[in-house]
Amino acid sequence: MSAQTSHQSENSYPTADETTKSHWERRAVIDLANVRENVKRVGELVAPAAVMAVVKADGYGHGAVAVSRAAIQAGASWLGCAHVTEALKIREAGLEAPLLAWLHTDGTPFEEAISANIDLAVSGWELDHVANAAQAAAQPARVHLKIDTGLGRNGSTAAQWEELLGRAASYQDEGLMRVVGVFSHLAVADEPERPETDEQLKAFNEAVALAEDAGFDLEVRHIANTPAILSRPDAHYDMVRLGLGLYGLSPFAGEDPARYGLRPAMTLESRIANVKKVPAGQGVSYGLHYHTSEETYLGLIPMGYADGLPRTANNAPVSILGKTYLVRGTIAMDQFVVDLGPDIDVAAILGATAILFGEGGPSVTEWADAAGSVNYEIVTRISPRVPRRLVEGTWGESGE
Ligand SMILES: *Cc1c(COP(=O)(O)O)cnc(C)c1O
Repeated sequence: MSAQTSHQSENSYPTADETTKSHWERRAVIDLANVRENVKRVGELVAPAAVMAVVKADGYGHGAVAVSRAAIQAGASWLGCAHVTEALKIREAGLEAPLLAWLHTDGTPFEEAISANIDLAVSGWELDHVANAAQAAAQPARVHLKIDTGLGRNGSTAAQWEELLGRAASYQDEGLMRVVGVFSHLAVADEPERPETDEQLKAFNEAVALAEDAGFDLEVRHIANTPAILSRPDAHYDMVRLGLGLYGLSPFAGEDPARYGLRPAMTLESRIANVKKVPAGQGVSYGLHYHTSEETYLGLIPMGYADGLPRTANNAPVSILGKTYLVRGTIAMDQFVVDLGPDIDVAAILGATAILFGEGGPSVTEWADAAGSVNYEIVTRISPRVPRRLVEGTWGESGE
């Protein structure tokens, strides 16, 4: 990991002072060069389709503004968020790329969104709210109509689709909105052998055709998330919505992201807070669910569930001075323990860096497997207590 970048202040998380070795205790190192490289790889894969960088949930825990900027620099032409409030923060940071928000309530600030040139997804009930907000903002809304092709979450049902198209066409005729997109979301694209993705694409094609028949001049048809980007070229349409792959992670069980030329953007690390020799039979952490099998050294790592580690990640791997150890006993709020074995250099290990996951250490997926979760959740839940450090790695372009 190399020098800090000028983006440091754009990160929405507290930042670590990296000037001397002793000034950091735990951190998530975010390699923006890897983010750029991931965008370029996906851009090549999906061309001529455009890439939307999905930066909801503060960029899956990586920092939405810094990731957005890096993604745009590397050729992403759109940004996407779940909430309008997330999108407004991106606009406040000065990013002007086309930006879509897709999950609303009747508390959503639609008028502010329209004034900030944020495109709005509409599944049904939002249409009238968006039209009223456009009237108040004295500016037409840019709308992407969402069709539920099988996921069963948001989106219009097929049964209500033509009515939605008709209502949107009326509002468009009144000058209150422009329907610029039709989109949907996939349910099982991370399991390429399942048949439902074909069914969803067929339903999507029908919904798009009806929208075109209704006279809309669509800029973007989009349905692909990261798994479909990597496994379904027939799902790329005009644009793909790149989330997990932007952060260099693979959505497929047992598949290394390197297979797709993707590099993980987050490295989570801390420093060994204590080392001590204990006898055989020593119980470890709350509940004493682990007992040492021999005289050994225990190492204490000062991160826990308040830092976003899953409390259930028993036996997750941690890399210390090039060797892998396992989480032993329950992860507590602030700390957990690894069993270092009997033969260690105590002086070298106390204060050494422990890499929980990232380049040069275990993978996010190993932590997800240990916790019964997915890599998406592991990075996204790393809490604001962990300072983010933005770097430009040695990979790809030289950075700035
Ligand atoms: C989160 C999200 C994505 C990104 O999915 P990935 O699998 O992370 O690429 C795309 N579209 C929608 C609607 C989403 O909510």
